[in-house]
Amino acid sequence: MAAIDGKILLKNNDCYKEYDKMTPKGIVVHSTGANNPNLRRYIAPDDGIIGKNEYGNDWNRPGEDVCVHAFIGKDKNGIVRTYQTLPFDICCWGCGGGSKGSYNYDPAYIQFEMCEDDLTSESYCKAVYEKAVALCVYLCKKYKLSVSNIVSHKEASERGYASSHGDPENWLPRFGYTMDRLRKDVRERLEPRTLDKKGFKKGDKGLGVLAFKQLLILAYAKGFVKTRVKNDDLYEEKTVKAVNELLKGFGYRESGTAGERLIKKLYRKLR
Ligand SMILES: [Zn+2]
Repeated sequence: MAAIDGKILLKNNDCYKEYDKMTPKGIVVHSTGANNPNLRRYIAPDDGIIGKNEYGNDWNRPGEDVCVHAFIGKDKNGIVRTYQTLPFDICCWGCGGGSKGSYNYDPAYIQFEMCEDDLTSESYCKAVYEKAVALCVYLCKKYKLSVSNIVSHKEASERGYASSHGDPENWLPRFGYTMDRLRKDVRERLEPRTLDKKGFKKGDKGLGVLAFKQLLILAYAKGFVKTRVKNDDLYEEKTVKAVNELLKGFGYRESGTAGERLIKKLYRKLR
């Protein structure tokens, strides 16, 4: 899943014009609090994908005292997409301030809005949540952010760094999505799990390895891996490399170990 599907910078927003540079320290997750899931409600001009705002109330205008780095919502065909709307290294005007300060400035957080619908569609909520996870993973990787610094507007306000709002906890938990779950999902993507703790590993030799390498040879022939291994019974460096390619492709940690789970997955893929 793409973390960012499009980019329309809101250059006419006063926030963009101020262009306060920042080094991101975390992420604030918002939801809009209004029943309008369409990106075009907030973003303009139309790039042919999001559709045109017919009411002139988008945020790409002077005089709006609010702006965020990205939005997640529907394009004109109802497909849920993530659009970047500010450079990620300038301060946004997303969360207001609290007793200790504001995550708009120091420490400055990247902030995005999830466009609410009428809060009754589970499938829409799920699609938005998954895009939010993907965006957080991307941003955490790119800016080396700590997952514990991903907060909702509500949590930011409880920490004293935002105005008093309840988003997006007014919405996500209706379908079982919480901020703790979001942080857990992001953490898991950033630190892939180990598929097999036990299995063939570097230095192993024998009939079992020979049989497993036949699968790797087949995987190479089918283009599933780029590393070509020798047709023998030794689990050497190239076998490790091919196994890690597979593990990475399946979304697991590159442990170099080929156990029962990997072999089953590979077998299913080759069938
Ligand atoms: Zn908010």
